[in-house]
Amino acid sequence: AADLGRDLGRAVFNVRTAERDQQLLAELRALDSYKSQLISTVSHEFKNPLTGILGHLELLEDADVDAEVRRSLDVISRSAGKLESLAQDMLALARAGDPHRRVVALPIDLVAVIDEVIDLNSLEAARRGLRLEVDAPPKALVSAEAADLERICGNLVSNAVKYSRDGGAVAISARVEDSNVILRVRDEGLGISEKDQEQVFTEFFRSSNPEALRMPGTGLGLAIVQRTVRRHGGTIAVASELGKGTTFTVTLPAATARATRDSASGTS
Ligand code: ADP
Repeated sequence: AADLGRDLGRAVFNVRTAERDQQLLAELRALDSYKSQLISTVSHEFKNPLTGILGHLELLEDADVDAEVRRSLDVISRSAGKLESLAQDMLALARAGDPHRRVVALPIDLVAVIDEVIDLNSLEAARRGLRLEVDAPPKALVSAEAADLERICGNLVSNAVKYSRDGGAVAISARVEDSNVILRVRDEGLGISEKDQEQVFTEFFRSSNPEALRMPGTGLGLAIVQRTVRRHGGTIAVASELGKGTTFTVTLPAATARATRDSASGTS
């Protein structure tokens, strides 16, 4: 009887704990959704005044003003530009984390996206004597939203360029493995300390490394990338050594032959 009582007590305790966990989880979800909504609203509200500021700055571009006013206008213009990219990143973050937005995945060729991203970064790479190397099969079809895949790849490559030392190399590879496509972006740049590696995917996190802080940024890029990758059912990991370089590895679902056929015939 004592055993039965103890088992019963334990069962009741387990049920109560599970109920409490469920409640806690629901509260956390509600808070997260509130946070996303708040970020989305605030960044939307930034838009109108920013459009006003940027529009009038453009009007004043050719105005005949003295050097001091011109300097002030330049500072206002740079600051407004930073605010605009912050607002855009905040909106992208809220969108990437919105559980109500469904992923409308199509077969997208990652190799074509890599080529596009390389084109976008080639000027900056040439200016800094950086080599952009690609190792990929002719095609690697990923099941994803095109804009999301471009953001994932674009962000990782532009970070690799941004945090590289002049004259280094950035290696981008794509590989199809079983039912996944693996994208790897490796640089020989500043690297990320072990402590910072745990936080790089956190919103607004920027490493305290003074060399990295010299580069412009909002600390939102990798948070957006991680959420976007997860939305697509993928994973992202970082491996890095301070002063030696960093590798980001993303795994995304490959587009299966069936999905490719379905989307080609217009069904889903
Ligand atoms: P941002 O680049 O705008 O600061 P991210 O979210 O893209 O924001 O990156 C967060 C931080 O992670 C950066 O501030 C930087 O310290 C570090 N980081 C990201 N990518 C790299 C990289 N390839 N090499 C070194 N540090 C990096």
